[in-house]
Amino acid sequence: MTDSLTLPAGPMGEWPELLPGWVWLCGAGPGDPGLLTIHALNALRQADVVIYDALVQEAILDWAPQAEHVYAGKRGGKPSAKQRDISLRLVDLAKAGKRVLRLKGGDPFVFGRGGEEAQTLIQHGVPVRIIPGISAGIGGLAYAGIPVTHRDVNQSVTFITGHDQTGEATASLNWKAIAEGAQVLVIYMGMKHAEHIANALLDAGRPADEPAAVVSSATTPDQQVLETTLGRLAGDIAASGLEPPAILCIGRSVLMRQVLDWQALMNGETPRDLDPLGRGLPAEVS
Ligand code: SAH
Repeated sequence: MTDSLTLPAGPMGEWPELLPGWVWLCGAGPGDPGLLTIHALNALRQADVVIYDALVQEAILDWAPQAEHVYAGKRGGKPSAKQRDISLRLVDLAKAGKRVLRLKGGDPFVFGRGGEEAQTLIQHGVPVRIIPGISAGIGGLAYAGIPVTHRDVNQSVTFITGHDQTGEATASLNWKAIAEGAQVLVIYMGMKHAEHIANALLDAGRPADEPAAVVSSATTPDQQVLETTLGRLAGDIAASGLEPPAILCIGRSVLMRQVLDWQALMNGETPRDLDPLGRGLPAEVS
């Protein structure tokens, strides 16, 4: 282990300076602090204020000991009356000449309201920099050994939110079209309405035995993975006691976990199936 996190010289010169009066809107990744970007670390080192969401691991704030840490968490599904307050607070801090780091879980522009916050800032004349992060629907699945694409499974991915601004199951979604057209589904905020979502997909013709997985607290020490099927998804979630935050994945890519569960392999387990998609073992695949 190394405790030195000095930024190396950037390949293109100096790392950007977080100037007073600016807001950097930054993704913190799904949990594991090692999944931060170097731009995020550079921002943490310079901020006067870090305003962070519920899904940001607080350990990450240890990299900004000089900064004031402000929690701006909202729990998923609640109407976001506070969203405007958060955006305006960012405006006020910037106008007061602070170096502001707005830290959000995953990627700020993926189901993270980052677009709204950035828009408000720009509308108020506050200069903004966007720092993308690793989204839970990609990196969280990778930590579970589920590749979000695989040539033998899918040539597209559909990212879905399980509830809308009101907290209800997303009304604007055309589940029939999704069931027919989406190869692999990656569902954020899907726990509360898992039964509704699974039923909508089953009613629209997706097979009950289609592989499905739930990855909760992905990339953190509390990560848990449930492998199931679309038909059993809601019941198995209820029986498992798994809690949000969790990503649901529906599609055959889930089968790859039988060979790619690298965390189990690190713990000395052997792969359950070296060829879960039946594409042939290496000697057979020329
Ligand atoms: N901007 C975030 C998503 C915010 S929406 C991103 O790009 O990842 C919040 C949802 O993200 C949660 O309900 C859950 O579905 C998902 N999520 C975020 N962090 C997660 C984690 N560590 N493990 C599993 N799901 C996570």
